[in-house]
Amino acid sequence: RATPKYSGMVEDCCCDYETVDHLNEEVLNPSLQELVKTPFFRYFKAKLWCDCPFWPDDGMCKLRDCSVCECPESEFPESFKKPYRLSLNDLVCQEGKPQAAVDRTLDSKAFRGWTEIDNPWTNDDETDNGEMTYVNLQLNPERYTGYTGPSARRIWDAVYSENCPKYPSQESCQEEKILYKLISGLHSSISIHIASDYLLDEATNLWGQNLTLLYDRVLQYPDRVSNLYFTFLFVLRAVTKAADYLEQAEYDTGNLNEDLKTQSLMKQLLYNPKLQAACPVPFDEAKLWKGQSGPELKQNIQQQFRNISALMDCVGCEKCRLWGKLQVLGLGTALKILFSDDGQENLGHILQLQRNEVIALMNLLNRLSESVKFVREIGPTAERTIEGH
Ligand code: FAD
Repeated sequence: RATPKYSGMVEDCCCDYETVDHLNEEVLNPSLQELVKTPFFRYFKAKLWCDCPFWPDDGMCKLRDCSVCECPESEFPESFKKPYRLSLNDLVCQEGKPQAAVDRTLDSKAFRGWTEIDNPWTNDDETDNGEMTYVNLQLNPERYTGYTGPSARRIWDAVYSENCPKYPSQESCQEEKILYKLISGLHSSISIHIASDYLLDEATNLWGQNLTLLYDRVLQYPDRVSNLYFTFLFVLRAVTKAADYLEQAEYDTGNLNEDLKTQSLMKQLLYNPKLQAACPVPFDEAKLWKGQSGPELKQNIQQQFRNISALMDCVGCEKCRLWGKLQVLGLGTALKILFSDDGQENLGHILQLQRNEVIALMNLLNRLSESVKFVREIGPTAERTIEGH
């Protein structure tokens, strides 16, 4: 690859950068791009009307249509007048912007229930059907929405500092380091999607790539790129570990041809000979939770991850909240798959996944795959342009 910074093994993983890039471009990305368009994978069920448990009175989540930014003060709902931590000037109006709006177009046949068992790694309650919205992900790409300022910053700060403190490596155990890397990798991926689909000119509604943003937020920090690859391999490991379960799962949406295609794409991904030959175990989860304090540590980290999941309800832009919730659920599902069996029992007997978890898992893998591809293809040009050589 053009950037020599990224060669050799991806830290804490079992594959090297070159192999990951090669497999992604040749095998994974093309299949995933097809897969996420199928009726089964393009609809996601989410509670988008947020219920932020951490900053209940900041008003941000009450801005369903962002009217607070448009109404005169006399028309504010009573609740907005209460004192809250962010001042009105700090609120960046999101919900009224077309790029932040969520399109809920749904094929009503597409979503048929699976089991509904709560995931211990996440905060979402899937059985809460009354509040759920179904969203067509294809109509709501993850991209620039204009969500920025203290609200966005506060979420990321809480995710990092309250839940997985940045590690001075000696003090932090392997497991906490992994949680940090997963979040950092996801953060890199979100920033990469913002950079790859950015509103360059509001007046003419011109969208395109923002290489400066890509460089400033991700490329100039090699650890953020490395964490992206790590997260990609971690989720890939979860998908391949659950291959037998995922192969037999029902991808029934009532459209036979499409459902057969979904099944065949899943098989292509799960049992790809090239993947099995070049990177059979992308991440080795067996070495975690080994010490005496293993079970307690696992419980602590599970609680930390649940807090991160709950923080997604505080994201003050609906489309960002949609992708934040989906991707954190996807990570939670990967954690559930990798750490369900404690290395003792047969995973196939104990693993039960909700339909929504599988949708989140595969859409997350696709997002990460897109980010890896973008960094690989555009990264060197961005670095040359911005570093001036
Ligand atoms: P931020 O990205 O907010 O970063 C804050 C701080 O975190 C940085 O200063 C740095 O210290 C640290 N940091 C940044 N990246 C990493 C990393 N990879 N690893 C470790 N530390 C890091 N905006 C959109 O336009 N579209 C979206 O779809 C979108 N989705 C979002 C989803 C969530 C869950 C959240 C919380 C925010 C989302 N945003 C989205 C907002 C976006 O992520 C940024 O917060 C916003 O663009 C402001 O960016 P910033 O430059 O202040 O840095």
